[in-house]
This record gives sequence, structure tokens and C-alpha cells, in this order.
Amino acid sequence: MSRIAIESLGCKLNQAEVDSLARQLASRGYLLTESTDEADVYVLNTCTVTHIADRKSRHLLRAARRRSPQALIVALGCYAQRDPGMLERSGIADLALSHDRKEALAEIVESIRPPRGGQAGDPASGRRHRTRSMVKIQVGCNQFCSFCVVPLVRGPERSLPPEDVLQDVRERLAAGHREIVLTGTNIGRYTWNGQRPQGLAGLVERILSGTDITRLRLSSLRPHDLTPELAGLWSDERLCPHVHIPLQSGCESTLRRMNRPYSLADYARAVQSIREAVPALSVTTDVMVGFPGESAGEFEESYRFCAGMDFAGMHVFPYSARPGTPAAEMPDGTPDDVKRGRLQRMLALARQSARHYRLQFLGQTMNVLWEGESGGGTWEGLTANYIRVSTRSSEDLGNRLLPVKLTAEKGQVLLGENIEGGYIGHG
Ligand code: SF4
Repeated sequence: MSRIAIESLGCKLNQAEVDSLARQLASRGYLLTESTDEADVYVLNTCTVTHIADRKSRHLLRAARRRSPQALIVALGCYAQRDPGMLERSGIADLALSHDRKEALAEIVESIRPPRGGQAGDPASGRRHRTRSMVKIQVGCNQFCSFCVVPLVRGPERSLPPEDVLQDVRERLAAGHREIVLTGTNIGRYTWNGQRPQGLAGLVERILSGTDITRLRLSSLRPHDLTPELAGLWSDERLCPHVHIPLQSGCESTLRRMNRPYSLADYARAVQSIREAVPALSVTTDVMVGFPGESAGEFEESYRFCAGMDFAGMHVFPYSARPGTPAAEMPDGTPDDVKRGRLQRMLALARQSARHYRLQFLGQTMNVLWEGESGGGTWEGLTANYIRVSTRSSEDLGNRLLPVKLTAEKGQVLLGENIEGGYIGHG
């Protein structure tokens, strides 16, 4: 059979799109494979959110070319949208498909490399990760934060029809996935033509009431997305007690220069109210360091705010100038070594904060959805509130949701022991 390796970089939305494209390709008789060796076709859903993401995209495409010189190399996604000419002219990719051509991937591939001897197959054939699946509900952004290239490459906000989302969720559950993550550029902006559900809360309610889903998780939210209607839905234990609310900076003046649509007071209020509504909630965030013109005082303000928020996880990353964005034109006098020092301090805070959160749960029994074996009988999985847990077992734990006693910490995970009996509740 013709073998297709398909990978994704960047956000959960990219992963959701890859999952959907993979299913289309499998249904046309291609064998999906994890390995890029001897692939007939290699597809990468690229990312361009930072210059490092650009570099990683080029690196993966070149590596696939080296491993499978005969393969058709296809770049999709945000980098392919931003600079298709460069990827094709340089020979890094044979084809660079913009977002509006991406949906035609299966047809395009079929016209150039028709499947050999294949039958419509199991979409999950040859691929891991049946545990969790990303489902796209929305795409695009109207906010235009000054550092962000996403509105330029993804375009304005659009939502998918609720019936299509429900159908997609049902198909993933039928394929064996136990956890569904609703993804989009801004899922809090989900809306559908004035019909019910009119927003994210309505959609979540329909998924919870209309399917037998085990776990439902939401990807990034903004502070004003955490409405009382949405908060009320966490009374259903199947909705994972985990919210990711990108902060970007804990400094008021930096937030204004970033054109973020909230103040620090809005942010803190939203976090406090959702914490009051949802026990054991995990609040994770994104924090940028080294935004143009960030003074020593502004960095300290951001650091103090983050330290006071007790985040369960912080994705800390350095600012990266993106062509075409207002921030790329802003003056910046901070030396690189100062920025590196600030980055290290914020990363240390992130480690400390995450550790503080997960240690609260030592000694407790929580449900863990086991994902895969990392070798030697060591299994890893996640609690509903996004704590990574590891255990040793000779049994196949893959995709099983089991009660686990959290006994010790090891590095950035908690060690657990599977205990007898069914899982507790749903989460
Ligand atoms: S909200 Fe801001 S950071 Fe997020 S995608 Fe839109 S412009 Fe980018």
C-alpha cells in the first residue's frame, strides 16, 4: 500500500486538522504511518507563530526528504500560507498548500500519487494516540494582537456548524478515543448564525447531553469567555477541570502594547471566579518574555503577577518578531543577554509553580487516562486536571481510564499505582 506520513507542528488546531485529513487519506486507501522512512508521501501541517516554528517546519520537511527521497513532500498550514513561494522554489516542499486548498489535500495527493493496492482503511492504522482527539470547532481571529501573525494567515473568525461538530465527536468516540479536546483559534468566540447553540456553552452542553463521551476538554479561552453559563457546565464531571487562559504578560502597559483585550484585573477576576466554581481546577497559561520595549520594571511586574496566580502550568517563550505585525516595527533597546536572563527566571517560576500545584494531589486517588508505553513497561497518562502521571505495568494500559493512587514525584510527573476497582465518577 502507499504509505503516508503526516505530522503537525504548533497548536491543537493544527493537530485537529491533521487528524481530519488523515482520516480522509485513510478512507482513500493510503496507509498512515508514523515513520517518515520509505514514505510515498510526507505531509507537514506547519506553524509560523515564531521564527523557531518556521525553522522547525523547514527542518522536518528537509529531514523527510532525506529519509524518503522519492516521496512527495507537502507543506500545509500557517507557514505554507505565509510563504508558499519560498518553500516550493527552494525545493524544501514539492507542494505548499494554502489554508483554502488544504481541504483538497486528499484529492491533490491522489491525482499525483494514486494509492497502490489499497483499500479504504482504518483511519488509525499505523498511528498511535487513539486516546485523545482534537476536534476543530472554530478558526480565525479578529483580535490582531500586535505580535501575532495568526489573523494574517488564518483570516477572520468562522465557526463550524454544531451538527458537524457533534458528528465529528461521535466519529472520534466510535473510533475509540476516550478524550475529545475542542480546539480552534479562539474557541470562546464560537457562534452559529443566531441559532442554538449561540456560543461555546451551548455547544458544550449539546456534546455532553448528546453523546456518551468520557472526557471533554476545552483548549485556550480568554478571560471574558468564562461566562457563568460556561462555568456552570463543569458540574458535569466529564468536562475536565482544566482551563488554559493565555496571559502573555502580567504587566498592564505591556498588555496594552500587545493589544490584548483584557486588563490584569479582568484576568485575575476571571481566574478567581472559575476557581471558586470548579474544585481542583488546573489553570495553565502562556507567557511571553522580551516583548519590544519591555523595561526591567515591566518584566518585574509581569513576574510578580504570574507568581501570584499559582498557575498549574506556564508555557513561557521568548518574543519572536513576525513579519507584517505592528510589534515587529516597535523599537526595542533591550540587549539579548538581558532577555535571556529574564526568560530563565520566568522558566524557573513556571517549574516551581507547576510543582506546587501537582504536589497538592500527592496521596490522593485520581482517574488517569493511560496513553502509551514509553519503554520497559513504563506508562504515562493524564488526570482530568492535566497532571502527568507515570506507572510501571506489564499489562496493556493504553486508552484505559483507571483509578490511580498518586504516591511520589519524579521529575515533572507524579508516580502512581493502579488500584483495584472501577474508575471514580467520570473524569
Ligand atoms: S487572540 Fe491574539 S494571540 Fe490569539 S490568535 Fe488572535 S491575534 Fe493571535
